[in-house]
Amino acid sequence: MTIDSYAFQGKKAIVRVDFNVPLDENGHITDDTRIRGAVPTLKKILNDGGALIIMSHMGKPKGKVNAKLSLQQIVPAVSQALGVPVQFAPDCAKAADQAAALKSGEVLLLENLRFYPEEEGKPVGIEKTDPAYDEAKKAMKTAQKEFAKTLASYADCYVNDAFGTAHRKHASTAVIADYFDKDNKMLGYLMEKEVQAVENVLSNIRRPFTAIMGGSKVSTKIGIITNLLNKVDNLIICGGMTYTFMKAMGGTIGTSLCEDEQLQLALDIMEQARQKGINLILASDTVAADRFAEDANTQICPANAIPDGWMGMDIGPDSRERFAKVIEEAKTILWNGPAGVFEMDKFAKGSEAIAQSIAKATANGAYSLIGGGDSVACINKLHLADQVSYISTGGGALLEAIEGKELPGVAAIKG
Ligand code: AMP
Repeated sequence: MTIDSYAFQGKKAIVRVDFNVPLDENGHITDDTRIRGAVPTLKKILNDGGALIIMSHMGKPKGKVNAKLSLQQIVPAVSQALGVPVQFAPDCAKAADQAAALKSGEVLLLENLRFYPEEEGKPVGIEKTDPAYDEAKKAMKTAQKEFAKTLASYADCYVNDAFGTAHRKHASTAVIADYFDKDNKMLGYLMEKEVQAVENVLSNIRRPFTAIMGGSKVSTKIGIITNLLNKVDNLIICGGMTYTFMKAMGGTIGTSLCEDEQLQLALDIMEQARQKGINLILASDTVAADRFAEDANTQICPANAIPDGWMGMDIGPDSRERFAKVIEEAKTILWNGPAGVFEMDKFAKGSEAIAQSIAKATANGAYSLIGGGDSVACINKLHLADQVSYISTGGGALLEAIEGKELPGVAAIKG
C-alpha cells in the first residue's frame, strides 16, 4: 500500500516519526528539521480526513521515564507545524481511551516510546555475560510483541516515516507492522524519498559514479567502502582515514589519526580497487598542524611525509584540485564524512571545496546524495543545501542501506 493510494477518510493512522529533535537546557527545540520533515505525511493524512496518532522516541532514556526527554515539551512545536491542536498521551502504552475518542482531523502525540524497554526490546539491568541473559532476552522479545500489539490496537493503519530509525528492529519501527495486513501499512513520504535516493545511487547509476568517503575512522566505514567497491568508478577516501592508508603504504604520518589494527585492511581495499579497475583516490598533500587546535601552527606537506610531532588535519591544495576535477566530471555522487576537521575553520577548506564541486556537478546534471551528519552540516554551513540533489536525514540508516543491508523498517512494510 502507498500513502497516496490509501483512503484515510474516517480512519485512524498511527504514524512512527523521528521527532528526536535537539533541545536546549530549557527544553526548547534548537533545530526543528525533523519535525518539518514529517509534516507532508502528517498533513496528507489530516487533509484526507484521517485522525493521527503520532509516536516517536527522543534521546536514550534506556527504558525509564525521564522528564528531560518527554515529548510533552514539543507539543506546541508539533501543533504549530500542523496548524491544529495536538493532544498528548502521557503514557504511550495506556492511550487506548484517548485514541478511541479521536475524531477525523484530530491529533494525539504519544509519550516517548523509549520510556518502555520493550520499544528497543533489549533486556535491562542484566549483562550479556550473565547466564540468565538468554532467558531475559526471550522474555523481552515476548514483551516487545505485546507492546507493539498495544500500539497497533490504537489505529486502523500504520505509517512509518522515521528513516532515522529504519535500521532498527524496534516495536514501533518494525514489530508493529506484523499487526496490520499489507493493505493497511505503508511508508510515509519522507521514507519513500529516502528509499528512492538510495535506489538512485545504487540501482539507477549514471556514470561516472564517484563516492567521497571521509570522516575519522576506517573501521566504522569499512562495510560501506567494501560495498561501494562493487559500484563506483571513483572512490575518494579522505579525512582522518587517509593516514591509516598512508602508514600502510610505508609513509610517515607524525601524530595523525591512525588505526594500526586496520593497516592490512587498508592494503586489502587498495588491492581490491586495483583488481576491480576502480580509481581509488587518496590525498597527495595535507594541511598538518602542530596541535589539535584552531590556533595551531600549520604547514602543507605530502600526505605520506608528515614530520614528527605534526598531524594531518585537512587535505591540501593539490588534493583539493585533484578531487574537484573528479567530482565535477561525475554523474552520480555520494558524499559521507568530511575531508578534515571541518569544525575548525582553519581545517574546513577541503570539505568546503568538495561541497562546492558537488554543487557544480549537480548544476551540470549529476545526481548527488549527501548523508551522514557531518557532511550535511558542512553543506548547510556553506548554504549549498538547495544545490545538491538530496540530503538524507538518516545517519546509520543511510549507511546501512548503502552497504546493501535490508532496513527492518522498510522490510516490515514491503515484505
Ligand atoms: P565520522 O563520524 O566518522 O564521519 O567522522 C567525522 C569526524 O571526523 C569529524 O568530527 C571530523 O572532525 C573528523 N575528522 C576528519 N578529518 C580528520 C583528521 N584528519 N583528523 C582527525 N579527525 C578528523
